[in-house]
Amino acid sequence: MAVERRATGATGTPRAYDVVVVGLGGMGSAAAYHLAARGRRVLGLDRFTPPHDRGSSHGISRVIRQAYFEHPAYVPLLLRAYELWDRLARETGRELIVRTGGLMIGSSDAVVVTGSLRSAREHGLAHDLLDAAELRRRFPPFRPRPGEVAVYEAAAGYVLAEETVRAHLQRAAALGADLRVEEPVLAWRASEDGVEVTTPAATYRAEHLVLTAGPWAPQLLQLPLPLRVTRQVLCWFDPAGGVEPFLPDRFPIFAWELEDGRMIYGLPALEGPDGGVKVAFHVLGETCSPDTVNRTVSEEEVGALRACLRERIPSLAEGRLLRAVTCLYTNTPDGHFVIGLHPAHPQVAIAAGFSGHGYKFCSVVGEILADLATEGVTAHPIALFDPRRFAGA
Ligand SMILES: Cc1cc2nc3c(=O)[nH]c(=O)nc-3n(C[C@H](O)[C@H](O)[C@H](O)COP(=O)(O)OP(=O)(O)OC[C@H]3O[C@@H](n4cnc5c(N)ncnc54)[C@H](O)[C@@H]3O)c2cc1C
Repeated sequence: MAVERRATGATGTPRAYDVVVVGLGGMGSAAAYHLAARGRRVLGLDRFTPPHDRGSSHGISRVIRQAYFEHPAYVPLLLRAYELWDRLARETGRELIVRTGGLMIGSSDAVVVTGSLRSAREHGLAHDLLDAAELRRRFPPFRPRPGEVAVYEAAAGYVLAEETVRAHLQRAAALGADLRVEEPVLAWRASEDGVEVTTPAATYRAEHLVLTAGPWAPQLLQLPLPLRVTRQVLCWFDPAGGVEPFLPDRFPIFAWELEDGRMIYGLPALEGPDGGVKVAFHVLGETCSPDTVNRTVSEEEVGALRACLRERIPSLAEGRLLRAVTCLYTNTPDGHFVIGLHPAHPQVAIAAGFSGHGYKFCSVVGEILADLATEGVTAHPIALFDPRRFAGA
């Protein structure tokens, strides 16, 4: 039984909620949607107005792929994530996922190569292994070194990040969710029969709480998790010699593991004001806090990216910089997510620590959080993400 909200709404009418979702970014917007679709009375709260650029879900596009080098356990979740993305796109009439194909490039013993092959083989995913000559023939902008190889996966591509947040929120609202923005959660506490959530406007009571605060998770979770928030830089270049070879119908998403272990990745050129080829390091930046991080990108940071691209994708290295922004990763020590019930409060479900690779899972994480907040369990395989694995660390 849901209990009534203590304070009254703008209309003066008290309202009752089954679930409060705190944080309506990538993960929370998806959770609000799935909960509302199950007929739950949902209150969604965010300190800003999502989609916004202060957290982790901005920058237009995100890589999505299935032959997951990080661990084969992610693959079943990815297969479901694709289904849910296609469903959301149909429901909202928006283009949210684009299959461009993807290349995981490196030496034959690079983690991106061996890990992708392992996931592809264990799960029977279609893929090709290309040598350097074939890679260059099929995708002319790339200049692999002799001996480098690439795992090509046709199912890989990108999803539209802010657009997906908008789509999830639009559907959640249409299904009856009460979404309140510019309303920061100051505190929450577990009560005998549920939870209490306090904002400057009111104290809300509900049976269940979902915490999806992205880089603010360390401040909100009331759990001593070893999460480290880092400042990451994204750059968009206008390729020298023209954008055509970089358009989505011929240029795949890629991740390239360098000899020194660092990784760069990139996505095809989009058209319009959001145009340009996006590239970045997938290497942890400096530790920061979302409230005080320096959001200005320096020339040195852009220069470091150009230096890496010079031999590998020269027309990008020589391209004009169109934009550069910062974005935040929330990292766990093992790079795997934190998803589950709060160890001290089973009425609270948490999702955090996405370690710079979570966006492609938003759709399915929303479903998992809805399972956890309504049933207390999920049929999805999330053992790898157990919040209790750090106990005693
Ligand atoms: C540069 C960069 C590149 C990336 N590339 C990829 C990629 O290619 N593929 C991929 O899969 N992943 C990628 N990621 C990772 C992915 O984007 C994140 O894992 C994902 O966006 C995390 O979503 P989230 O919902 O946890 O956080 P967010 O989207 O940041 O949402 C958290 C929300 O909580 C709200 N909030 C916080 N505290 C409070 C409070 N007290 N009260 C109310 N609201 C609150 C915030 O305002 C925010 O809206 C990338 C991330 C970055 C930064």
